[in-house]
Amino acid sequence: MDYSTRLNIVTKYVPIILSREVLGYVVLAGLAWGLFDHLLRRWTARRKINQRAPEAAQMRREFFYSLRSVCIFAVVGGFMVFAIASGWTKFYMDFEKHGPGWFLISIVLLTVAHDTWFYWTHRLMHHPFFFKWIHRLHHQSINTTPWATYSFTATEAVIQAISTPLMIFLIPIHPGALAIFALWRHVFSVMGHAGYEIFPSGFFRWGFGRILNTPTHHVQHHTAFRSNFGLYFNVWDRLMGTNHPDYEAVFEEVTNRPKSNPPIVEPGLLPITCDVEA
Ligand SMILES: [Zn+2]
Ligand SMILES: [Zn+2]
Repeated sequence: MDYSTRLNIVTKYVPIILSREVLGYVVLAGLAWGLFDHLLRRWTARRKINQRAPEAAQMRREFFYSLRSVCIFAVVGGFMVFAIASGWTKFYMDFEKHGPGWFLISIVLLTVAHDTWFYWTHRLMHHPFFFKWIHRLHHQSINTTPWATYSFTATEAVIQAISTPLMIFLIPIHPGALAIFALWRHVFSVMGHAGYEIFPSGFFRWGFGRILNTPTHHVQHHTAFRSNFGLYFNVWDRLMGTNHPDYEAVFEEVTNRPKSNPPIVEPGLLPITCDVEA
């Protein structure tokens, strides 16, 4: 395939990737915000992990930077399409080629690879040398909202975007598996920032709950800074000793608040220890 044909394919697919990324972010963050912070407020108030109302200016900033990040994700997606059109990757279109078993395994591998990539790049971004100019922007949201999901510097957006394209060079991946993984990534990332605990009390003691991260885990990262670096799973944090020592205690506090007496959300109230100034 000649160079201009490959470029034509890229210009055809980048708007599709861009709309999918923008819609994924806006719809899911909007749903989380509309349901948890407004429509279902009566039931969700006691599950607000950080009992403080976020400022409107903060949400505007988060929305702007998140939109910029999803545009960067689409540009990285454009490079991925170019590589696929050039035949450099293991991307495949024929579902029967590897069957349903591999289809499911590839989604799991994408998730595990992204989790590993996220943990280690995230830890590196917390090194004082990198933190200020790459990751500090994301941490301006101490009391997170769903709009903060992709509130990244341009450099961090590129770092976050390249793990999946890298995987396409390594293992066979079907576009359906990619789409399911993208949806799961959006849902999990939005829920990690929405600020509400959705899992039941004691969740971290049961089966899959032992390794799956909860919204409390990432919200605690935004207040404590020096722990809870993982995304989907709690495995790397436990292996490397970076799980917050109070994670289970805070999770139990949030999930056992009395139903009859929901806490009043007021600015200035921080139930979780904040180690670093804003
Ligand atoms: Zn961080
Ligand atoms: Zn975050």
